[in-house]
Amino acid sequence: MNIHEYQGKQVLRQYGVAVPEGHVAFSPEEAVKAAKELGTDVVVVKAQIHAGGRGKAGGVKLAKNLDEVRAYAKELLGKVLVTHQTGPEGKEVKRLYIEAGSNIEKEYYLGLVLDRETSLVNLMGSEEGGMDIEEVAANTPDRIFYEEIDPVVGLTGFQARRMAFNMNIPAKLVNKAAKLMLGLYQAYLEKDASIVEINPLVVTGDGQVVALDAKFNFDANALYRHQDIMEMRDYDEEDPKEIEASKYDLSYISLDGNIGCMVNGAGLAMATMDTINYYGGTPANFLDVGGGATAEKVTEAFKIILSDQNVKGIFVNIFGGIMKCDVIAEGVIQAAKEVSLNVPLVVRLEGTNVELGKKLLNESDLDIVAAGTMADGAKKIVELVG
Ligand code: ADP
Ligand code: MG
Repeated sequence: MNIHEYQGKQVLRQYGVAVPEGHVAFSPEEAVKAAKELGTDVVVVKAQIHAGGRGKAGGVKLAKNLDEVRAYAKELLGKVLVTHQTGPEGKEVKRLYIEAGSNIEKEYYLGLVLDRETSLVNLMGSEEGGMDIEEVAANTPDRIFYEEIDPVVGLTGFQARRMAFNMNIPAKLVNKAAKLMLGLYQAYLEKDASIVEINPLVVTGDGQVVALDAKFNFDANALYRHQDIMEMRDYDEEDPKEIEASKYDLSYISLDGNIGCMVNGAGLAMATMDTINYYGGTPANFLDVGGGATAEKVTEAFKIILSDQNVKGIFVNIFGGIMKCDVIAEGVIQAAKEVSLNVPLVVRLEGTNVELGKKLLNESDLDIVAAGTMADGAKKIVELVG
């Protein structure tokens, strides 16, 4: 789960990481009020969307007086920002962050990520801050430094200072930077984050080390123990189909193809998507209804797939182990009753109660194409979608 920059900075403050003062605003009036409270010569009006690259896309504005604050707030609220991370459709700005202007001397990059190969959290830092770190990684990878963090020992002061030296932080600020890194690691660990990215981390004219941007991603499986983070969830930033799916505890991810998939088990779902691709089709979603799904859950899953305008055909591929084929059949029949099914449907059932499942589907008046194997089913749905 992602959160907004201003929320990320709230988390950072709790861990002693220096961030500029600021207030969230939902209207130009609130923006002006926030700027008055800050009382600094320069305030920054920052669009809050769950995507980076706002600066380049015109979503970060320096305002020198309250009139400018009002004008920028009016301009940004309701605007659709297209950045390199939003995709071509962009994202509508609904919140602003009004922040004290920082007297930036130099911008750096700092991040914490989980390295899946070593299963260790890595501290990443670079002198090449402010720009896309992906570009730095591609063109000048030697400018990025890493510290692997031992989970038992945690990030040590020595590692943090070594990182600060590698990043060429001015010598007299190395201890301040190291302290910030330790706070950042503590936040990452205690809040079960999977990524935290500070781009830029800045050194200011008056000798402070400050996080000017904050991007957090949290491990969704650990959210149950972080009520405070869960409350930061902004549904406006998420795919409505994914929100609906999460209500029913379904693992659903929207994709841009046109074949809806309903599968049980993440492995089978991946294999199904691969097989569809193999036969020249493109999946519209990843969907794992899980092992112990009820007919109600299956109904909801089916309705979510059907609500996607891009879906031109559906492939139900079930291996009944814990999941029983008749439960799937009931769910499909129920869903088709509630929302009209006007695209081709291919069903492949195998495993527990398969005969009963097939019988239920046959006795329904649904127009179903039966498939014997996964390959057969994928081939059929790709042909039907055309
Ligand atoms: P994004 O990564 O989405 O472009 P950032 O928060 O990194 O957004 O802001 C982009 C740039 O705007 C920063 O690199 C920095 O130069 C400038 N900036 C951001 N916040 C401030 C601030 N409080 N004071 C001064 N400049 C800022
Ligand atoms: Mg940034």
